[in-house]
Amino acid sequence: MNPRPILFLLLLLLSAVLTSATAALAQDKGSVELKPLPPLANPNDPKLGAKELFGRKVLPAALPTRVVGFYAKGCIAGAEALPINGETWQVMRLSRNRNWAHPDMVALLKRVAAKVPKEAGWPGILVGDMSQPRGGPMITGHASHQVGLDADIWLTPMPNRQLSRNEREEMSAVMMVRSDRLDIDPQAWTPRHLAVIRAAAQEPRVQRIFVNAAIKKALCREAKGDRGWLAKVRPMYGHDYHFHIRIRCPAGSGECESQPEPSEGEGCSASDLAYWFKDSVLHPKPPKVPPKPKPPMTLAQLPAACRQVLAAPDAKQ
Ligand SMILES: [Zn+2]
Repeated sequence: MNPRPILFLLLLLLSAVLTSATAALAQDKGSVELKPLPPLANPNDPKLGAKELFGRKVLPAALPTRVVGFYAKGCIAGAEALPINGETWQVMRLSRNRNWAHPDMVALLKRVAAKVPKEAGWPGILVGDMSQPRGGPMITGHASHQVGLDADIWLTPMPNRQLSRNEREEMSAVMMVRSDRLDIDPQAWTPRHLAVIRAAAQEPRVQRIFVNAAIKKALCREAKGDRGWLAKVRPMYGHDYHFHIRIRCPAGSGECESQPEPSEGEGCSASDLAYWFKDSVLHPKPPKVPPKPKPPMTLAQLPAACRQVLAAPDAKQ
């Protein structure tokens, strides 16, 4: 037998394993029970990662709603939970307790979810990680999602029934990107996916949406009619099973650090996308010397008000 096809199959298998290993973070499976983290030996250790402190808060701070800092360096008081079941949404990975956000984000997700049956023909959306009850850095995944203004939506339709807690931990989202990473997988991607992303991007409060570059390429090719919303959809590493919604700082949130508006234009030209499809970006070579792991972000590195948010009593539910 010719060994070539076997070698090819092996390579294909290897690349699939590698791809899923790097892309799985956003949907790592969890346990059904909410397992409290063990108490910290020295919670006042100045070198301690702030993620260890914020990750142990089960409820929001009993303070007026307040967004402190930047998407990737901050916290939130007065966050609200997105109910785990709505008519047109279900929250996934309940064990993570990350279905918290600024009330404006909760309202936005409900609004997007309500549009989806009519505009995209899905029964509803599956909601992935939002923020922790008091925001802050997380023990697993995500540099951002710290101030209650980011949320992940699965690129998988909500089924026509209520998922069990177990299913919400075990179910996997569907990979949208072709194995060569140069375009979407036509077996998985549909016009409905475009319609769901568009429904979110057309919301005025949304400032940015992150998707894999292959998905951005497909949106650029397939969007008909109004294309103004494409400017908000930005290519990003990962984001091949889910997309990420980011809203602007809410009015009156003086301590919320905003980001500039995405540069004008659809971001669809060959030169806009070229970077993302370079071989060195698609298949980065591992460094010869593995980089030293970065020390985690400490409480002292976060805005000072995050100490108050952390120390406040639990909000009554
Ligand atoms: Zn995200």
